[in-house]
Amino acid sequence: MKKLLLGLLVFTMIFSVNAHAGTTLSDLQNKQNQVGSQLNASKSKVNKLKNQKKNAVYEANKLDRQIDSLTDQIKNYNSKISNTKQNITELEVKIKEEEAAREKYNEEHKDRLKKIYMAGKVGYVQTLLKSKGADDFLKRTYYTQKMVEYDNGIVKEMIDVEEKLKDNKLDLVNKKNEIEKLNNSKKQAVRSQQNSLSKKLTYIKQVNSDIEEEEKKYKALMAENEAIKNEIKAYKSKLTYNSSGMVWPVPGYSRISSPYGMRIHPISKKKRMHTGIDIPAAKGKPVVSADDGVVITARWSNSYGKLLLVDHGVKNGVTYTTKYAHNSAFKVSNGQKVKKGQTIALIGTTGWSTGNHLHFEVLLNNKDQNPLKYVPRP
Ligand SMILES: [Zn+2]
Repeated sequence: MKKLLLGLLVFTMIFSVNAHAGTTLSDLQNKQNQVGSQLNASKSKVNKLKNQKKNAVYEANKLDRQIDSLTDQIKNYNSKISNTKQNITELEVKIKEEEAAREKYNEEHKDRLKKIYMAGKVGYVQTLLKSKGADDFLKRTYYTQKMVEYDNGIVKEMIDVEEKLKDNKLDLVNKKNEIEKLNNSKKQAVRSQQNSLSKKLTYIKQVNSDIEEEEKKYKALMAENEAIKNEIKAYKSKLTYNSSGMVWPVPGYSRISSPYGMRIHPISKKKRMHTGIDIPAAKGKPVVSADDGVVITARWSNSYGKLLLVDHGVKNGVTYTTKYAHNSAFKVSNGQKVKKGQTIALIGTTGWSTGNHLHFEVLLNNKDQNPLKYVPRP
C-alpha cells in the first residue's frame, strides 16, 4: 500500500513538470474532482429549488381556485342581497299603501262617527222621539254600535296586515344583514387569500431567479469541467512516449564499473540492490539525455549528489523515466524540455561516490530496470 502510494506520488511528480508552469496533473485532477462535487451540489440545489417552485406553484394554484370559488360566492351573495333589498323596497311600498288605506279608512270611520255624534247631539230624547218607537231607537243604537264594531274590526285587520308586512320586512332586513355579514367575511377571506397569493407569486419569482442563477453557475461549472477534461487530455497526450530508442548517456565512455543487480555497496559495504549502471568518465565530460523528455528533477541529494530525472512520457500506460546521478554540474533546469542526446549535466563525483562516474537508471512506472535492456552499449 505504501509502495503504491509512493508510486502514485512519483507518478504524479513525473507529470508535475510540463509546459504547464506550476500546474500538475494531480492539480488538474483535484480541480476536476472539486468541480465535479460543485456540479453535484449545484445540480441538487437546482433540483431542490425546482421542487420548492413546484410546491409553491401548486399552492398558488390552490389559492387561485379558492379565490375563484370565494369570488363566485360573493357574487351569489351580492345578488341575494340585491334581491332581498328589492323585496324590502317592495314591502315598504306595500306597508305604505296599507298605511295609506288604513288612514283613509280611519278618516271615513271618523267621519261616520262624527255624523253619529252630531246626530247624537240632537239628544237622546230627540233621537228617541225621532225613532218610531223604542224598538226603532234600540235598533238604531244597535246598528250604530255594530257599525263601530265593524269599523274597528276592519281597522284591526288592517293593522294586523301592516304588522305582518312589517314583520316580514324585519325578517328580510335581518336576512339581508346576515348575508352581508357572511359576504363581508368572504370578502375578507378573499383579501387574505389574495395577499397570500401575491406573497406566493413573489416567492415563485424569487425562486425562478434563484434557479436561473444556479443554472448559470451550473453551466459555468460544466464549461470549467469540460476545459479541465481537455486540459488533462492535452496534458496526457503531450507526454506520450514515442521513442525510436534510447541512446548511451555518456558519449565516448562505454565501460561499466558496476552493473545493475545485487552487489556490496562500495561505501556502506552492505549487500544492496544496485538500481542502475555506473559509467566512469573524466570529470566535466557531457552527460546526455537518453531520450526526448522533460526534466522533472534537478536537485541536490545526499546520496546521489547533483541528481537529474528526465521524464520521457507514457506508452501503453507505462511511464518512462531516466535518472542521472553524481553530476558535477547541471546544464538544464527543472521543467525544461530536452532532446535525445542533448547535454544535460557534466560528469562528477558528488554525493555518495568513490570517483567520477555517471550512475544511470532506467525506470518503468518508477521501478528500476536493467538499463542495458533499453540503452544499447556502444
Ligand atoms: Zn551507481
